[in-house]
Order: sequence, then C-alpha cells, then structure tokens
Amino acid sequence: MTNYSPPQDPAGEHDDRFYRALVDNVHPPSWNNPEPAGEYNFVVLGAGPAGLVAARAAAALGAKVALIERHFVGGDCLNVGCVPSKAIIRTSRLYAEMRAAGTFGAQVPGDIDVDFRSVMQRMRRVQTHISRTDSAQRLSADGVDVYFGEARFAGRRAVEVDGKTLHFRKALVATGARPKMPSIPGLVEAGYLTNESVFDLTEHPRHLLVIGGGPLGCELAQAFRRLGAQVIIAQDEPMFLPKEERDAAQILSDALARDGVEIHLNSKVVAVRMEGGMKVADLVSDDNKSSVSVDEILTGIGRSPNVEGLNLDAAGVAYNTDRGIVVNDFLQTTNRRIYAAGDVCLEHKFTHTADASARIVVQNALFLGRKRLSALTIPWCTYTDPEIAHVGLYARVARERGIPVRTFTILMHDVDRAVTDGEEEGFVKIHVRQGSDRILGATVVARHAGEMINGLSLAINAGIGMRALAQVIHTYPTQAEAIKMAADAYNRTRLTPTLKALARRWLAW
Ligand SMILES: Cc1cc2nc3c(=O)[nH]c(=O)nc-3n(C[C@H](O)[C@H](O)[C@H](O)COP(=O)(O)OP(=O)(O)OC[C@H]3O[C@@H](n4cnc5c(N)ncnc54)[C@H](O)[C@@H]3O)c2cc1C
Repeated sequence: MTNYSPPQDPAGEHDDRFYRALVDNVHPPSWNNPEPAGEYNFVVLGAGPAGLVAARAAAALGAKVALIERHFVGGDCLNVGCVPSKAIIRTSRLYAEMRAAGTFGAQVPGDIDVDFRSVMQRMRRVQTHISRTDSAQRLSADGVDVYFGEARFAGRRAVEVDGKTLHFRKALVATGARPKMPSIPGLVEAGYLTNESVFDLTEHPRHLLVIGGGPLGCELAQAFRRLGAQVIIAQDEPMFLPKEERDAAQILSDALARDGVEIHLNSKVVAVRMEGGMKVADLVSDDNKSSVSVDEILTGIGRSPNVEGLNLDAAGVAYNTDRGIVVNDFLQTTNRRIYAAGDVCLEHKFTHTADASARIVVQNALFLGRKRLSALTIPWCTYTDPEIAHVGLYARVARERGIPVRTFTILMHDVDRAVTDGEEEGFVKIHVRQGSDRILGATVVARHAGEMINGLSLAINAGIGMRALAQVIHTYPTQAEAIKMAADAYNRTRLTPTLKALARRWLAW
C-alpha cells in the first residue's frame, strides 16, 4: 500500500479549516490505495463530474468498480471551475447590490470595502460543503475502489496506477480538460493566472487583464471588477460569447461596461513584458496599437483535453490533441471496451454534459444500451449578471439548415417580477418552426436565466410545444412568466382574420 500526498496549497496561504476539510474529502492525506483483487467490471479514469457519476452509478448497480484520480476528487468543477467561480460571483453580486442600494431605496452606511480574504474563505467553505457528497471516503463506503495516482493504460484491458495493474472488462476515460496555453511572446516569463491558479489568490489584483471573452473570461472579469479590481478584458473577436445571439452578447457588453470593466473587442494581445514591476501587455486592434499595464493577467481562451500521458496508443484508443478522444455516437472509442465522457471528448464542456454523457456510458458499456449522444438536449448558461442561457438551435443555425423560423420575444422590462426586482435587463426569445408550435431553440437573458432555461429544455426534450406551454399556469409574479408570455404571443398568431371574424359574429349573436 502506498500513501499519496495530496497536492499542496501552492502559496501555503489557505491554512484555514475549510481548506483542510476540503482536502480531507477530495484527497485525504493518509489515503491508502486498495489492492486490486481480480478483474474489475468497470475502471474509470478521472474523478471529475463524468467519472464520479459513472463510478457511483455502476457501483450502485452492483458492478465491481475502480475510480482513479491523480489530483482532487470532484475534478475541475468542484476545485477550480463551476463551484469556486459561482461562489465568488455570488459575493461579487452582493457587493454590486450594496453599491446600488440607493436605487432600491436602501442605504449602506460608510464606504464599502471588499474583504477579499473572507470572500475566498467563503468560497472554500462552499467547496467543502459540496465536496461531502463525493468525498473519497463516501465513494469507498458506496463500494467504489478509489485509487489516487496517475492512470496510464498498460494494454487494451489494463490500467496502471501507483505501481498496481488494474484489469478491466470495460473502462471509461473521463480525464477532463485543462486551460489552453496562449502563445503570446513574453507571457510565460511575466507569469499569468488560469482557472487553476486564480482561486488561490489571497488578495485581489489591483489591475487585472483578462484575455478571452468566453464564459470564463466574462464571468471572472465581472466578478473581479465587482470585488474591487480595475479590470480590462481583451477579446480578439467583435463580440463576447461569439456563439450567442448578437443582442444577448450586446447586453453583456453593456453590463460589463456599466460595471466599469474596460472593454477591448477585436483586440489581440500580441506581447507581454515586465516594466517597473508591472506586466505590460501590447494590444493590436485593426491598425491601432495600445498598451495596458496591470499586476495580474488571467487567461481564458479555451480548454485542451487531457489525453497526454494516458498511453492511449497502447490501449488502441484514437485521439486528437485539440478535440480529444475520438468517440462514436454511443461514446465508444476505437477500442470497443473503452468509452469516454465529459470534457475529454465532448464539444460542449459543461458539468451537466459530463454528467449526461457518463449516464450514457454506464448504460451502453455495462447494460447493452444504445443511448446516443446526439439525442441529448443540452442547455448552457454563462453566469454573468445578467445571465445568458441557451438551449436548442440558434435562429441563424436553423436558417442555415433551411428550417423556417419564427421568433417570439418578450423583454424582461415587460415582466412584472423583473420590474419589482429591478432586474429588467434582458429577454426571453423562443424560436419556433414556422407553421407549427414546435420549439427549436431559445435564448434567455435575465438575472436568473440559468434557472429559466430549464423549463424550455424540458419543453424541447418532452416535445411540448408553444400551445401546451401557453396552458401552463405560472405563479405570479415570477420572471419565468416571460416564457408563458412568449407562448401567449404565439397563440395570438393562430387567430387568423377568418377566426377573428367568426369570433366577432359569435359574440354579436
Ligand atoms: C472557471 C470554470 C468555470 C466553470 N463553470 C461551469 C459552470 O458554471 N457550469 C458548467 O456546467 N460547467 C462549468 N465549467 C466546466 C466544468 O467544470 C467541466 O465541464 C467539468 O468539470 C467537466 O467534467 P469532467 O469530469 O469531464 O472533467 P474534469 O472535471 O476536468 O475532471 C477530470 C478529472 O480527471 C483527472 N485526471 C486527468 N488525467 C488523469 C490521469 N492521467 N489519471 C488520473 N486522473 C486524471 C483530473 O485530475 C480531474 O480530476 C467551468 C469550468 C471552468 C474552468
């Protein structure tokens, strides 16, 4: 038996009880790896959301399961992704609301000082709380053999970890992804943050440059600005969140600007250098050159799948260093005994897709299932303020595919609850196949768009059309009423002139 030491707190700064409790759950310092006894039904590489869901489900169904994690159970989501980011976004929102107290008829006495250490301590408390569900001890108690160490295939049916060889009937690669490294001259020498290091900060940077205007860049740029940093964001495309509808991205741009984030769209960071203790970044936008001087740089330019070091060739698993492990629609790799799920193979890198893909794998790998990835309805949300959520097709994509689209839009400033809450920015936009009530896709921009989109995902998934949505009684006042209002708008289009004339005659009679 070997004891693995957990990765250390890099700055040695988080020696609070929450950090220690978190580590006790996600990589207990005195953990003893089990001794493999016989062949496993299912070996899972990586204990992020995909690996956890698959290992738990398989063990609950009676399979003999091993789960291998080289770092922290919970993966990116719990440790350096969704959970810490949403925790600090929550506090940053509170600070924004305190500053805007006057607009709500309230007053905050004195200056508002941000206590960044407490913000980060709360973040670790939140992580600790959430980590209890999937702690190494709990997984073990639920029948999963948890191994800490680097997993590496030793053939088509065997994996090595910590000097032990685990034989399997089926395996799942769920090793996730890591931040893509930008190739900007001088950046490495000057030093920069990624999502893997930004949550270790103990003081907020006074001046922060965020490179990348995707979900990560936008969420953290707004959060750090609201937590008191001067933030500059550079995006090398004409708008943020390039996949989203233009008006949604425009609202986000306006919101960031209102918060005081300095926005550089269409701007490429071409070089970084140190000058007088500051990091100076050179930006190019069309033919204009400018420089910004900051004390920290955070990059969020995309994710690279973790395929290196797994010895995938020995296992006969084909992969691509950009797109990850090659899978078919059943999530099977080129070795029919080995499957992949989550960020290591999927285009949509989200926790809920990691979860959904892991469920597909359990059914297909262990129970002769024929579940398809392409059958999933996948929503997503960027947790800025306002949030931007989407599900299904975008109008432009539907048109590109030759599908005729009709769009129903409700502005949040026409929704009573949004008005009472002072959260009037945004809209609900539902795209319907012309001539039918079938929902093709929807975008919601609203304070709680991430919650609201779930109703529309349900509708698409269950084949519920606009007519049925219009019959659903929504509680008043709620922001989700915007969805019913859009469905009512659809219903009004069914009133043709002939129907109207008939109704008029009926009423006159
Ligand atoms: C800042 C940020 C915010 C995010 N916010 C959201 C959000 O709000 N909502 C959302 O849905 N998604 C969000 N995501 C994305 C989400 O975190 C990922 O999609 C999700 O974690 C993917 O799960 P996974 O299991 O595929 O991979 P991961 O979570 O990356 O887990 C993979 C695990 O495999 C382990 N591993 C890798 N290689 C090996 C090896 N050789 N041996 C053993 N173990 C190995 C890793 O240590 C890791 O623990 C965010 C991501 C970031 C970076």
